[in-house]
Amino acid sequence: MECKDRPPRSFLPGAQTCMAVLLLLLVYSISRQAAVLTSAASARAGRRPLVVIDSGHGGKDPGKVSVDGTLEKDINLQIALRLKTYLDASGVSVLLTRDEDEGLYSQQDSNKKMADMRARCQLINDAHPDLVVSIHQNSYPRESVCGSQVFYYQTSKEGKKLAEILQKRLSTLRPDIPARQAKSNSSYYLLLHADPPAVIAECGFLSNWTEAALLASEEYQDQLAWALHMGILEYLNTRTPLNARAATAGQGRCSTL
Ligand SMILES: [Zn+2]
Repeated sequence: MECKDRPPRSFLPGAQTCMAVLLLLLVYSISRQAAVLTSAASARAGRRPLVVIDSGHGGKDPGKVSVDGTLEKDINLQIALRLKTYLDASGVSVLLTRDEDEGLYSQQDSNKKMADMRARCQLINDAHPDLVVSIHQNSYPRESVCGSQVFYYQTSKEGKKLAEILQKRLSTLRPDIPARQAKSNSSYYLLLHADPPAVIAECGFLSNWTEAALLASEEYQDQLAWALHMGILEYLNTRTPLNARAATAGQGRCSTL
């Protein structure tokens, strides 16, 4: 016996088919959205930040020489290797421009310094890292000058932010001297030619006897590496998302001289 409220038999197959198609479309749509969201989420979650640590000088280029004869290139490398260890342990991928006492030039290069700097910038820009920290030591004719100083490209907002964070962290290692401010620069080769946010961290003055002794010690090198590591993590956790940054933000300059 048929219920009079029941739709006519002829309506049912069509309605069922229609409902089935709608249901399939709905399931397909939800699955597709879920797949896209999962893909995006895993991409975000799975991608470790990448940092390039540039150990200044190397090979034929010793950099500055300290008052007690220690070479800048050796101090730079020790700090860079320690910094890599800390960043690795914190889940940050690290690319070193060098991990031994070698410059990035070939014996055939007539201008080895320029070849070296070009190779470093090429390596950086090819890697597309989240940031670059170039480690150096300073020197000045007046012996009393000391303290760390971090430089950034003059129009780079993210470079400035990174430099200010690292400057603050490094300054805590020398509470006995006035803290310096991060400083803008428009002429350093690496700052001019590296596309990502980049800073040059001059960790101290090799022309100052007290600081030269500190910079040559493993303990202070380790403290510097730890301070830079903490600063890099702070920057990565607080930086402006890529899609919210200004289109240029002062970076993306030409990659050749
Ligand atoms: Zn240097």
